[in-house]
Amino acid sequence: MSDQSPKKVVVLGTGGTIAGTAASASDNLGYTAAQVGVAELLAQVPGMDRALGGCTLVSEQVAQIDSKDMSFAVWQALAQRVQHHLAQPEVKAVVITHGTDTLEETAYFLHAVLPLQWVSRKPVVLTCAMRPATSLSPDGPQNLLDAIAVALCPQACGVMVVAAGSVHGALDVQKTHTYRPDAFSSGDAGALGYVEEGQLRLLRNWPLDQSNKALIAIEKIANLSCWPRVEIVMNYAGGSAYMVDAMLQPLPGVPALQGLVVAATGNGTLHHALEAALRRASQAGVRVVRASRCANGRVLATEHAEFAHSEGLSPVKARVALMLALMSGG
Ligand code: ASP
Repeated sequence: MSDQSPKKVVVLGTGGTIAGTAASASDNLGYTAAQVGVAELLAQVPGMDRALGGCTLVSEQVAQIDSKDMSFAVWQALAQRVQHHLAQPEVKAVVITHGTDTLEETAYFLHAVLPLQWVSRKPVVLTCAMRPATSLSPDGPQNLLDAIAVALCPQACGVMVVAAGSVHGALDVQKTHTYRPDAFSSGDAGALGYVEEGQLRLLRNWPLDQSNKALIAIEKIANLSCWPRVEIVMNYAGGSAYMVDAMLQPLPGVPALQGLVVAATGNGTLHHALEAALRRASQAGVRVVRASRCANGRVLATEHAEFAHSEGLSPVKARVALMLALMSGG
């Protein structure tokens, strides 16, 4: 009887430091991100054949950007390509190379929009690097090997991030360090597991938490030329109404504000001046969501809270969730 299990891993390249180059091997800062194609990156990883264990590796360059410049157009293309590949019976998993700066937003976006039908059976693993490909000690090759190891685990599913030997779920992962190779954390939730010498040590269940899923199909998102305008404001000492009031003013050629996420202090607290401005925004029809600027914990629902809370999402992820909710009319 022939083995019918999927035998292909697809790696989608989007750029980032993992594909970055510098003039000198000792320069880990003055590099240009997104210079090396994903096929070349994969070809340079020692031990890749062994990690693949007989599976075929296929790569596709979806974008080639520094992820600080991540755009809705790239997200639209990426979501469509991931969905396309997951739907192929021979595909076991999709791995994505990405810059670290907005990795958590892309991971959350994919978690929110990819149909459960696929991600409950096949994993989507994002990986990255904090050192360019030309570095004296690049972290990209090991991260790629680890991502492949996770992607090929028999029960793997859900959207995950693999970096510096740790595996994180899309809902919890955050970039928490500006420079160190181990730059990601899952905060209170903790990592899903660790990759050690090509073996996954899973500490928690595969990430199939279906909270914060979008109620809109990828096909519909793909056809949108203009995404709802949602901005983020922060609460801080000496906070004021100026920023919010300014954003409510119409500007020629700028779409009207539809949503505001506030990176509030602590458990969603707001300076009274900012709170009053957010009330005005809400009365003008702008959807307001409270997240916290704290790196850990979540805004807990309180009785009579005036503004919705972010259901545990960080400000940047809450913004994506709010854009998706506005798109779906929710
Ligand atoms: N600016 C880079 C990017 O996000 C940083 C990185 O990849 O580490 O593409």
